[in-house]
Amino acid sequence: KTLLGIESSCDDTAAAVVRGVPGEMTALSSVVYAQTDLHAAFGGVVPEIAARAHAERLDVSIVAALEQAGIGLDGIDAIAVTCGPGLIGGVVSGVMMAKGLSAATGLPMYGVNHLAGHALTPRLSDGVAFPYLMLLVSGGHCQFLIVHGPDRFERLGGTIDDAPGEAFDKVARLLGLGQPGGPAIETISHEGDPARFAFPRPLANKPGCDLSFSGLKTAVLRARDDLVDAQDGLHEQDQADLAASFQAAVRDSLVGKSARALERYLSLTPDTPTFCVAGGVAANMTIRGGLETISGEFGVRFLAPPLALCTDNAAMIAAAGIEQMAVRAPDDMSLSARPRMPLDMDSAAMLGSGK
Ligand code: ATP
Ligand code: FE
Repeated sequence: KTLLGIESSCDDTAAAVVRGVPGEMTALSSVVYAQTDLHAAFGGVVPEIAARAHAERLDVSIVAALEQAGIGLDGIDAIAVTCGPGLIGGVVSGVMMAKGLSAATGLPMYGVNHLAGHALTPRLSDGVAFPYLMLLVSGGHCQFLIVHGPDRFERLGGTIDDAPGEAFDKVARLLGLGQPGGPAIETISHEGDPARFAFPRPLANKPGCDLSFSGLKTAVLRARDDLVDAQDGLHEQDQADLAASFQAAVRDSLVGKSARALERYLSLTPDTPTFCVAGGVAANMTIRGGLETISGEFGVRFLAPPLALCTDNAAMIAAAGIEQMAVRAPDDMSLSARPRMPLDMDSAAMLGSGK
């Protein structure tokens, strides 16, 4: 099958063409138009600006994706579109575009949960066998999932407040670093001492896989305020030490709960145990290193798909479409865009149906 994927749930307008069968797929093209420049002046994504930009760029990204794949709409078997969760204006733009294309061409349409797209990325990048353990760690999300199948996700736990990417972005702002905060903090941390500040590892002793990052952010704020000099502001070394200590705390929290999640996952005795990460924070080498080490201790293969597939893209949506096509019927014109859309087995029935 050859699917056209459409993604517009946050601040990236994306389209892609993916060909293959479940577990054996190739991206023929993947076009991402980032809106970073449009939102830069506002210090965060502005929903109205995002929605308008998606509406303006969806058609050109689809044309570009088809062109780069070297096929026309007549070479496409179905359309997969993100129908939630996300900023509603953007999700609506994508769903409308998919409905229009589907109505005009008669192609079947699949509404895909954005989180299912992230969670199924290892199927596209490496054909990883079910069940695998997934840590989805991005700007908006943080959760441990056992992926049993294309529409069966078992949520083991996740953040009860901020997502780690959000924490990186906020702490970067506190330290006077640029956005996005993740790469800025990672870079400056190389010059810093990760042991100088003992920032909290919240919920460490609580059973289960839940995490919390908002207290960590407050702790960095307090430590900063103690150090800020009325004349010179924050000294460079203090800035680097704060960043490195913060990054180490995020790593330790994620690694600690990964151990719990791995225990639970291994109790299923999977044939080829694999721990995968997805989401923008997976780019962080300190965090990645920690996850790799803990996987090794459990004798589990660790896998991080290429970064272009870990951050928002439409290839993961098309791939999820190929996976789900094999197990369910397409959606009809009643497919709705949803701002919130959980991803666990209890809610599997609502996965793509949008109802
Ligand atoms: P979601 O996918 O949950 O809707 P999103 O689209 O904002 O959220 P991604 O594009 O997956 O998330 O990732 C962006 C986030 O990843 C940002 O918060 C950014 O700071 C963070 N990030 C990127 N690179 C790094 C890094 N090297 N270290 C830590 N965080 C990083
Ligand atoms: Fe995402």
